[in-house]
Amino acid sequence: MEKIKMTTPLVEMDGDEMTRILWSDIKELLLTPYIDLNTVYFDLGLPERERTHDQVTVDSAEATKAYGVAVKCATITPNAQRVEEYRLSQMWKSPNGTIRAILDGTVFRAPIMVKGISPVVKNWKKPITIARHAFGDVYKNTEYKVPGPGKAELLFTGADGAEHRQTIYDFQGPGVLQGQFNTAASITSFAHACFQFALDTRQDLWFATKDTISKQYDHTFKDIFQEIYDAQYAKKFKKLGIEYFYTLIDDAVARVIRSEGGFIWACKNYDGDVMSDMVSTAFGSLAMMTSVLVSPDGKYEYEAAHGTVTRHYYQHLQGKETSTNPIATLFAWTGALRKRGELDGIAALQAFADKLEQASIAVIEGGTMTKDLAGLWEGDTPAVTVTSRDFLLAIRDELERRL
Ligand code: NAD
Repeated sequence: MEKIKMTTPLVEMDGDEMTRILWSDIKELLLTPYIDLNTVYFDLGLPERERTHDQVTVDSAEATKAYGVAVKCATITPNAQRVEEYRLSQMWKSPNGTIRAILDGTVFRAPIMVKGISPVVKNWKKPITIARHAFGDVYKNTEYKVPGPGKAELLFTGADGAEHRQTIYDFQGPGVLQGQFNTAASITSFAHACFQFALDTRQDLWFATKDTISKQYDHTFKDIFQEIYDAQYAKKFKKLGIEYFYTLIDDAVARVIRSEGGFIWACKNYDGDVMSDMVSTAFGSLAMMTSVLVSPDGKYEYEAAHGTVTRHYYQHLQGKETSTNPIATLFAWTGALRKRGELDGIAALQAFADKLEQASIAVIEGGTMTKDLAGLWEGDTPAVTVTSRDFLLAIRDELERRL
C-alpha cells in the first residue's frame, strides 16, 4: 500500500515521561508505516523548555496559529519537586496555560466509549462533551481575609475617572471577601467556539449558569450566548437539526444525569473544572478522555486529557514494561489527522483516522486491554491485560485487517 501523503504539516508538540514513550511508539507502530507523516516538530519536553527558556512553547503555539492544527503530548507542569528533579532555572509555567493564552481557546473534553465498560450512570449511552470556558472568574480572583468589623465596597473607576461604588457587605466581625471578573471579549469567543464545535460535531449544545441569583454576572454570559446564537447560528443549527438551549445550572445537572448523552455541555470555568472530572470518572477512566482546544478563529490543538503518568515512567526507568493506556494519546493523533484531512480535502487521511480509532476500540471490545481498563471490564470473558507496546501491536494487527 502506498503511504498517505499530507499537504499541510501538523504541528507536533512532544512531551514528557511515560506519554513521551507512548508518543514515539504510536508514531513508529501505527502512523509512519501508513502515512508520509508531515509535521513541524516542537519538543515541549521539560529539558528543552529549560534549554530554550520556554521559548519552544511559545513557538509551538505560534506555529499552531500559522498551520491551524496541532497535536500535543502530555507535559510536566513544574512544581518545587520538579525544579529539583530537572535542575530548572525557573518554575516554568504550564505549557497548556501558555498555549491557551496565545490561542485564546475553549477546551472540549469527550469520553471514548467502548462496549464492555459501562458508565456508572446507566442511562448514558453516548458521550457527553464538556466545553470549559478556560478564562477568568475564580481562577483570576482577588481575595481578602477580612480581619474584623468594617464595610466592603465594590469600586470601579472608569478610564474617564468616573466612579461606580456599591456596598458589598457591612461586616460586624471577621470574614472573607473575593473579587472576580470576566470580559465580554472572552465570553464572546467562548460562545463562538461552542457554537462552532456543535456544528462541527453535529451535537446539541447546552449552556447553564446561575443567572437567577447572579443577575449581572451570570446573566451577561446568558445574554451574550443568546445574542450570538440568534444572530449567527440559529439558522445553521436548524439546518443540521441540532439545538441550542439555555437552562439553570441546577436544572442542567439533573437533566444531564437523566439524559442518554450525545451533546455538548458548555460550562463556566469553575463548573467545567468540577463537572469534567465528574463526567470523566462516571464514564470510566481519564485514560479514555480526549481533549481539544478550539480557538475562535478555528485553530485546533488535540491532546489527551490525562498527564504524563509519572508512576509508570519511574517503573519504565527501572527497565520494567508498563501497561499504560495509550488510547487518549492515540486519539489525539487521529483527531488531528482527521481535522487536517478535512481542511486539506484528503479523504484517505480522514478514512485512515477513522479506521485506526475503530481498530483500537475493536481490540478493547475483543477483550485485550491495558491494566487500568481491565479493572472496569464487564465483558463475558475475562480481560487479557497486556503491556502498552503489545496493546499497540494488537491495534496494528486489527488495523491491517481493516485497511
Ligand atoms: P496523570 O494523569 O498522569 O495521572 C493521574 C492518575 O491516573 C494516576 O494514578 C495515573 O496512573 C492514572 N493514569 C493517567 N493516565 C493514564 C494512562 N494513560 N494509563 C494508565 N493510567 C493512567 O496526572 P498526575 O499524576 O496528576 O500528574 C503527572 C504529571 O502530569 C505532572 O507532572 C503534571 O504536571 C502533568 N500533567 C500534565 C497534563 C497535560 O499536559 N495536559 C495534565 C495533567 C497533568
